[in-house]
Amino acid sequence: MFNSIMTLALRALATFYPSQKPLMFSGAHSAIKLADFMIDSGIQRPLLITDRFLLDNGMLDGLITHLKKRGCVVTTYADIIPNPTFAVIESGLASSKKNHCDAVFVVGGGSAIDAAKVIAAASTNKKPLTQLTGILKVDNPLLPFYAVPTTSGTGSEVTSAAVISDSETHKKQFFVDPKYIPKAIALDSELLKSLPPAITAATGMDALTHAIEAYTSKNHFADSDQDAETAIRLLFRFLPAAYQNGDDIYAREMVAVASFLAGYAFNKAGLGYVHAISHQISAHYNTAHGLANAVILPRVLRFNQSSCQKRYAALEQLLTNNSARQSVTTTTETDQELAQQFIARVDRLSDALNIPVNLTDLQPTDFNAIAQQAIAEARRSYAVPRVMKKEQATVILKSVHSGSRHLCFS
Ligand code: NAD
Repeated sequence: MFNSIMTLALRALATFYPSQKPLMFSGAHSAIKLADFMIDSGIQRPLLITDRFLLDNGMLDGLITHLKKRGCVVTTYADIIPNPTFAVIESGLASSKKNHCDAVFVVGGGSAIDAAKVIAAASTNKKPLTQLTGILKVDNPLLPFYAVPTTSGTGSEVTSAAVISDSETHKKQFFVDPKYIPKAIALDSELLKSLPPAITAATGMDALTHAIEAYTSKNHFADSDQDAETAIRLLFRFLPAAYQNGDDIYAREMVAVASFLAGYAFNKAGLGYVHAISHQISAHYNTAHGLANAVILPRVLRFNQSSCQKRYAALEQLLTNNSARQSVTTTTETDQELAQQFIARVDRLSDALNIPVNLTDLQPTDFNAIAQQAIAEARRSYAVPRVMKKEQATVILKSVHSGSRHLCFS
């Protein structure tokens, strides 16, 4: 009953506040094109937000030189950490105010983009951060906001959400408003080449999780389905290549496009228990978001199987036809068989990307709190295909702790 009310509420929200896709530049050095677009829109004092790795390795040197050559006064804020905290936002905001910045230009993963969103909102909304958390809390438009994602995973460049960790409560706080969608973005393949294989694997599986959770949400739409399907096709085809050879620019670009489409799909249709559980794990142990999702995904796929037989079967057929390329094959197998094949296909992809079967940080003493918080997050936020009980979430946590993929839900 509660789940149906939640589905209706989320559907109404998606209908009255329709998602938009930002203007997109893509290809090698498209970050420079995005910078030109920003400057030609009248921006002169951008706050450039990034993380230490990208800045210290000189990956933004060309961009910074270009911005300065075109007359910009650039303030750089590079103290972004994975799973950014309120303290990170406060110090970025202070930098924006002190230097009278007139736009936010972010280059980085989901952590940098999320922090940049909230800094851009807090710069123009005279509210403490605690009053910006939650849904539709942004009164004024953000400082003009431009994003270059470099991890091809979160899809944050196209979502209305930002996720900030509260280091005191061990909870992730959500900031949700359509105003958080950037004005324009760039998928710059040159900046993706340096992403190490393990992060490429985890963030790519994060994108796959977004697409699958959106596709199996009870709040899915025709266009979110279409984007989720395309994302899933692209990820199965190109993620192993990007993982094996980081210099494969074409594979990198296709994975970035997949992540963008998966971001759009989940922004509209919502997420599910993989995220509900992984958010709590990351908040407790600072586990990388993509890795936590990648490890939990196969477990939740199995939990949802009885309610998602047809959807999994449709994806399996899509991917079978994807492999067969030209000739569209038909199958006499049942939905149940196809659904099982789909789950096995996800397992094979995880294995090919060397995704671990367990998360070593997870502590049994925290199972109760994590399970409780995960169930609460899903009840509040997601139109899940099958409702999970706390005991079932605990079964998943036990299997993530022990590394066994065999699950027995009572
Ligand atoms: P991340 O931004 O934390 O980056 C992970 C690591 O990759 C960092 O050490 C970073 O320095 C490094 N890195 C980034 N780009 C690189 C590159 N090109 N080459 C080499 N190293 C690079 O990871 P993420 O998975 O992109 O983001 C996770 C965050 O995003 C979490 O806080 C999560 O909650 C949030 N998230 C937000 C949304 C949303 O819609 N807003 C969706 C999903 C996740």
